[in-house]
Amino acid sequence: MNTEQFRVAAKAAIDEIANYHDSVPEHRVVSAVEPGYLRPLLPASAPLDGEPWEAIQSDIQSKILPGITHWASPGFMAFFPCSSSYPAAIAEMYSNAFNGAHFNWICSPAVTELETIVMDWLAQALGLPECFLSGGPTHGGGVIHGSASEAILTVMVAARDKYINEATAHLPEGEDKEEETWRLRSKLVALGSAGAHSSTKKAAQVLGVRFATVPVSQDNGFSMTGEALTKTLDELRAKGLEPFYLTATLGTTDVCAVDDFASIASALASRAGKPGEIWVHVDAAYAGAALLLDENKPLAEPMAAFHSFNFNPHKWMLTTFDCSAVWVRHRGHLIAALSIKPPYLRNQYSDNELVTDYRDWQIPLGRRFRSLKLWFVLRSYGIRGLQAHIRNGVSLGESLEEKLVSREDLFSVFTRARFGLVTFRVKGNGEEEVNRRTERLYEAVNASGRFYLTSTVVNGHFAIRVCTGTAAVREEHVRGLFELLVETVEKQLKE
Ligand SMILES: *Cc1c(COP(=O)(O)O)cnc(C)c1O
Repeated sequence: MNTEQFRVAAKAAIDEIANYHDSVPEHRVVSAVEPGYLRPLLPASAPLDGEPWEAIQSDIQSKILPGITHWASPGFMAFFPCSSSYPAAIAEMYSNAFNGAHFNWICSPAVTELETIVMDWLAQALGLPECFLSGGPTHGGGVIHGSASEAILTVMVAARDKYINEATAHLPEGEDKEEETWRLRSKLVALGSAGAHSSTKKAAQVLGVRFATVPVSQDNGFSMTGEALTKTLDELRAKGLEPFYLTATLGTTDVCAVDDFASIASALASRAGKPGEIWVHVDAAYAGAALLLDENKPLAEPMAAFHSFNFNPHKWMLTTFDCSAVWVRHRGHLIAALSIKPPYLRNQYSDNELVTDYRDWQIPLGRRFRSLKLWFVLRSYGIRGLQAHIRNGVSLGESLEEKLVSREDLFSVFTRARFGLVTFRVKGNGEEEVNRRTERLYEAVNASGRFYLTSTVVNGHFAIRVCTGTAAVREEHVRGLFELLVETVEKQLKE
């Protein structure tokens, strides 16, 4: 494809993409294809000779679209949203144009410098404590990763090395120190609440450290407390284990619970800043975007006692996948754990303090130009525009909760609407009947193709989760969902 052909093809593709966006609400939300649908539609091997662009493009409609689940649909209320916007889409085009691996500052100075600046903008917009700013007192700063799972694994590596280095600092270099390092490694435990996302457990699995959960209960809204944490830590230490890392969550995946950051900070205060302290990471992958709203800003204050924080602008902040924003309080800990300097990566800029080489803040070497889409989104919407978008999701969750409460004869709210997520169950006699009825309703609603919901099981309770954070969702869609829920459950109860 030459430049002239590119101009024509790319303009046509943009028209097609714009039409797709306009027509999303008309599609069934979840793809209805059967597993393996694609193989019979495609040749058994790649073409030997290049094909004309028209042949390739027409396969988007005929072969790919049927296998797409429409995350931008107003009927998409499953999982958490994965939002897109036109400014982010345009940024991705420019990012592709300036394609490169961008691991060092000199690989494209704008890529690094824009990232540092927009991550400071974003930290301020969320009201994160000053320690997370690149110019803050503790030499912190932000970096963009591809996913929350990657962010959690990365900070856990830094936490592990910090813990072991501090615990063995009194030993002189030599075999004894080496032995003690490996002994400690076999005792390390990473922690998360029972509601923490599975990515913390997975990171522990990848790192080869133990994983333990701190129990949570329905009585305090599934929020991890300092008291429960202390109890778990005491039990682990009594067994000779070395807890070194904790994921605290702002907006758990199941029910959007928020851990009790203040009591967690006081539970850990006696060792804070000393060798043996526990690295606390706040995982706010979805609900972190809600810190844009002023009434949620107080949630960020206790984080001044913690070590790192992440949220995914690609979930609820209109920035296309992938974009996971991570901040650390001391960038030195990340760099100490992840910096490798073979001669071919050295250059006149990297060996001084003047520049940031983000390769030392992440696991991969190469990196995309992701800050461009954050920059475009922040500037196109402004903080006020983003606040309006978040508020829409929050209010619609509350609106659905009200509707569910108005039919107390049919439904019970399991966890109240928070950050655009509400969970509920169908009424019945006894746990077993409630679980069965709720699951039956859930399956019927998803089978309709009009809406896509997910379910969860918390402490044995089956509940339907509805997330109203997708940008296209409006009151009429929430009303439509509610009417379908009532109609379906009434029909099922009559049978
Ligand atoms: C979505 C989510 C994750 C996982 O996010 P990825 O970016 O897909 O790894 C982790 N934690 C929480 C709280 C989430 O909501």
